[in-house]
Amino acid sequence: MTLLALESVTKRFGAVAALDALSLEIGAGEFFALLGGSGSGKSTLLRAVAGFELPDAGRVLLRGQDISRQPPPARDVAMMFQSYALFPHLSVADNIAYGLRRAGEGRAAIAARVAELVALLALGGMEARRPRQLSGGQQQRVALARALARRPSLILLDEPLAALDSGLRERTGLELRALQRRLGASFVMVTHDQAEALALADRVAVLEQGRIAQVASPRELYDRPATRSVARFLGAANVLEAGTLPLGAEVAAPAYALRPERIRLVDALPAINGTPATVADLAFRGGDALLLAQVAGGPLLRVVLPAGAALPEAGAAILLAWDAAALAPLAA
Ligand code: ADP
Ligand code: MG
Repeated sequence: MTLLALESVTKRFGAVAALDALSLEIGAGEFFALLGGSGSGKSTLLRAVAGFELPDAGRVLLRGQDISRQPPPARDVAMMFQSYALFPHLSVADNIAYGLRRAGEGRAAIAARVAELVALLALGGMEARRPRQLSGGQQQRVALARALARRPSLILLDEPLAALDSGLRERTGLELRALQRRLGASFVMVTHDQAEALALADRVAVLEQGRIAQVASPRELYDRPATRSVARFLGAANVLEAGTLPLGAEVAAPAYALRPERIRLVDALPAINGTPATVADLAFRGGDALLLAQVAGGPLLRVVLPAGAALPEAGAAILLAWDAAALAPLAA
């Protein structure tokens, strides 16, 4: 069932179309990631859904109802901001209770809900502290509790993990997904980190200049990027232009993505789907090894070799090959 739909939403700032006739549907109970570079329109999209930006054109629908003109508190949507935007002068409990008080709920109901959220997000004992007396991870959980307080059907999270250090980030991301599953609410998470989007989301939309370049499951996005720019953005896929190498693919396309781990070192060069190259650089990475292979008069290929593979020397002449099925056709 579709919970949220954007229909051809445009938002301009002067000459910039932050959202350019963008359409998108998000299902009930879905963990959805918006992935894109800086300035691609991710925050503007969330702000338009939350009600902090009015679209210049197009509609935002929640359960089929047009909410484009509703003020933020009237929407069954909550947003967790990138910087958390906690009130510095309010305690943890008062930060969490803020939206409930504004909505005019009774004292007893508010106290009960705050206690529930404190337990849910493991903030026990910190209720009276101010935000500055909390670690980054604790502040993140307070911001999340505040967003969840009114039990919205849709939670928008703008780079919720960006301010955490890497160890905490991974674990917090998994906790976030577990929480989403438990609540059954839809989460839309903005990130510029492709690994995070692929690891956590049911589906991912890649944003480019206010448009959606591709929407797909993580597996499909990784294996079958639609365009050159998606393939490049998704981290280090090789983009092979048709005509530069002897390629035999199942589908004819102007270019192909080839994952670095799908390329093998071989002893005999196949007639197609292989190339001689020289080792431009080599890095042992623990779990695997990264090899940069320069094709004479052609591309520099990224090759990831499994741990334990015999590694060539820098400067060595090597032969590389891949399966036809490993070539993912790119439309543009
Ligand atoms: P992202 O979150 O993907 O980094 P944003 O949605 O913040 O991108 O911004 C998209 C584009 O719109 C950028 O070019 C940005 O400079 C511009 N933009 C966003 N908000 C404003 C604003 N309030 N005034 C002017 N330009 C804005
Ligand atoms: Mg942003």
